[in-house]
Amino acid sequence: MKTHSERLFDEAVRYIPGGVNSPVRAYQAVGMTPRFMQGATGPYIFDVDGNKYIDYICSWGPMILGHNDPEVLKSVVEACEYGLSLGTATEIEVCIAKFICTKIPHVEMIRMVNSGTEAVMSAVRVARGFTGRDKIIKFAGCYHGHSDAMLVSAGSGVMTSGVPDSLGVTKGATKDTLTACYNDLESVKELLDANKDRVAAIIVEPVAANMGVVLPKPGFLEGLRKLCDETGSLLIFDEVITGFRLSFGGAAEYFGVRPDLVTYGKIIGGGMPVGAYGGRRDVMSFVSPAGDVYQAGTLSGNPIAMAAGMTQLQILYNHKDKYKELDRLGVKLYGGMEELCHQYDLEAHVNYIGSLGSLFFTQEEVIDYDLAKTADTKEFARYFAFMLEQGIHLAPSQFEAMFLSCMHTDAIIDETLNIFERYLNDTK
Ligand code: PLP
Repeated sequence: MKTHSERLFDEAVRYIPGGVNSPVRAYQAVGMTPRFMQGATGPYIFDVDGNKYIDYICSWGPMILGHNDPEVLKSVVEACEYGLSLGTATEIEVCIAKFICTKIPHVEMIRMVNSGTEAVMSAVRVARGFTGRDKIIKFAGCYHGHSDAMLVSAGSGVMTSGVPDSLGVTKGATKDTLTACYNDLESVKELLDANKDRVAAIIVEPVAANMGVVLPKPGFLEGLRKLCDETGSLLIFDEVITGFRLSFGGAAEYFGVRPDLVTYGKIIGGGMPVGAYGGRRDVMSFVSPAGDVYQAGTLSGNPIAMAAGMTQLQILYNHKDKYKELDRLGVKLYGGMEELCHQYDLEAHVNYIGSLGSLFFTQEEVIDYDLAKTADTKEFARYFAFMLEQGIHLAPSQFEAMFLSCMHTDAIIDETLNIFERYLNDTK
């Protein structure tokens, strides 16, 4: 007898490609049928068959305060009273822009869009417009959304489905995208030397979280800054995952490296579809209608999305202790998993920083895309299925991050570690 999730999936595949509206939601890589979720609260998510899970996806990052935070929810309900979309300039857009620009030193101006993909696409365009150069350097295994030029060695969903590069992306669209190796400054230098005065920007996930979590080696981000300063290229930090997560000022603040442009998504919308790009005033002044780099959006700065984002950001800014608590919980969870792996002689590594972490089924520590690809995806699938059956909701891919929220507690982490230990016992 099929579960409700299975019946929904049978129907979904008839009408939606692959049955899902984003590939990362499919359980293809782990050979299972996706669980259809009905709702979520705090650290928990519930499926349509009445199962409850501890959620370590947290909507892929936005729900840092936990699901359905009452203050965020209230602000959304209140904003709805005034209209769902006005398509005009509104006060809340000024509030959120001012709030961010006065709190984050490297963001002097900011433009709201509707997704991380749009944010990156637009940041790259303005970098090209500002510098008058064509080329972009990205890193293998870093995902910057699904715009054509960025779908090169793009990690994440592309990596999970084993598709090297997407069909439908023309050679012309990617001919100016150069790919370097994460954590390898020499590979960046070589590309810069070979493309003198032609590289508009280096774009990087300052902590890579789309080939699993991969930390920058000490000096890597500083080295990128220096190379940009020497060559006149702009440094773009894609902080769609790390922004407002590693610290309020994201990875830039955490590592003390100042990018020229930064992209945001996820947390900035409080759970609503929002992205943003911002940075140096002289660069952002090139954006239309102030300047000649065109970028627009019917629903950009939508008042409901701005209300959710503003409330979430205010809570985070006014309670910075939450970041310390997330760091502590991260050490407890990910450090605890690492220790258990040692105890049980499991060939695995846990990469983590703050509330982000990944368990890699690899012999060697993962510091780049090639090493990430050596992970045992079959064992990951077994681990995933075991954890899911025990009520732990993880991303169905070896190459995604785990996310902690402020609603995860010591008791929840103890429970997770107990279940993880049961998986290790089951593996022996
Ligand atoms: N950049 C990074 C680092 C991401 O992780 C993502 C999505 O996960 C994106 C860009 C694209 O964001 P969106 O899915 O909102 O288009």
